[in-house]
Amino acid sequence: MQYEEILARTWDVVIVGAGPGGMGAALYSSRADLSTLIIEKNFVGGLIALTMEVENYPAVDFASGMELAQHMEAQVKKFGTEILYKEVTRVEKAEPVGTAPSFHVRLADGESVRALSVVVACGSAPRRIPARGEEEFYGRGVSYCATCDGAFFRNKDIMVVGGGESAFQEGHFLTQFGKTVTLVHRRDQFRATPLAVRRARASEKWSEKLGYTIEEIKGEGVVTGVRLKNVSTGEVDDVPVDGVFGFIGYEPAATFVEGLCELDGEGYLVVDGKMRTSCPGIWGCGDIIKGSLKQMVISAGNGATAAIDIREYLAEHKDAETASAEHQAA
Ligand code: NAP
Repeated sequence: MQYEEILARTWDVVIVGAGPGGMGAALYSSRADLSTLIIEKNFVGGLIALTMEVENYPAVDFASGMELAQHMEAQVKKFGTEILYKEVTRVEKAEPVGTAPSFHVRLADGESVRALSVVVACGSAPRRIPARGEEEFYGRGVSYCATCDGAFFRNKDIMVVGGGESAFQEGHFLTQFGKTVTLVHRRDQFRATPLAVRRARASEKWSEKLGYTIEEIKGEGVVTGVRLKNVSTGEVDDVPVDGVFGFIGYEPAATFVEGLCELDGEGYLVVDGKMRTSCPGIWGCGDIIKGSLKQMVISAGNGATAAIDIREYLAEHKDAETASAEHQAA
């Protein structure tokens, strides 16, 4: 569909974010014959597209995240979902359509899309490593995506930061490229599952520096080393490395509905059991919602829950309009 046509319509459902949550919502809304537009600022799949291997989604234990994302995209398009690659900057209330609230979804290029309902499924962004030099060397040896950048570090010394599932899974993936992979974590206990820890530790390239944080990332044009700091003693240790991959969690990115929907203290969207936010007409799903377990299967389910509720909500508004028109005609 041409951009002008997308802008000219009032969409039943506009979904912000094309990760598993957004795709789950799109699948259910487009199959219910609701006009559905996904707006995505980067690429389909969200964080799952950056994951090398997916093995915990029912019936899928053979796909890369990217393959799975492409399947999801093809599936929602088959049922009529449109995907627009733009950044959303703000969602604002617009004139109601009949009894239903409506919204302007403002885009970074100054245009806006009109929606009868909005699903916020924008996920969260990787938390940046809080170390001197991180900004200077971001993209020059500092990365947050093993799938995207791992191959640049063949036979190099790689450092992975974090003690969660991502650090161990992605770190394990990086052992196929690096000469060595060293995990740095601020304590000696992990949030990662024992399975992920066992798999990473099985590689002879793997080692761990526990009880350390990265104080500084150093280099000349590209990363050449890091300064580690022992959390208990404060002692520092300069270690040569070629790449630093950060997996220290994620931060929510729903500022475009700030003031319209309730967010918790950390910026996650507060939703009820039907994925409704505090603002009628706006739903939330996936990693952006408060208390999310950040699992693809859950995000996809959240999306389906939201879409089913939206179908009922829009039908109720249509019924109310019909009743009101009949009342006026009588
Ligand atoms: P996470 O579970 O939040 O772990 C973040 C890690 O980074 C923690 O070990 C934390 O240390 C450390 N950390 C946080 N801030 C730090 C800082 N400022 N400096 C140094 N270290 C810091 O993040 P995640 O591993 O990305 O996982 C996020 C969610 O996605 C989890 O729910 C996880 O289960 C899920 N996930 C699932 C899969 C899968 O099912 N296949 C794969 C990846 C992730 P502390 O432990 O000391 O707080």
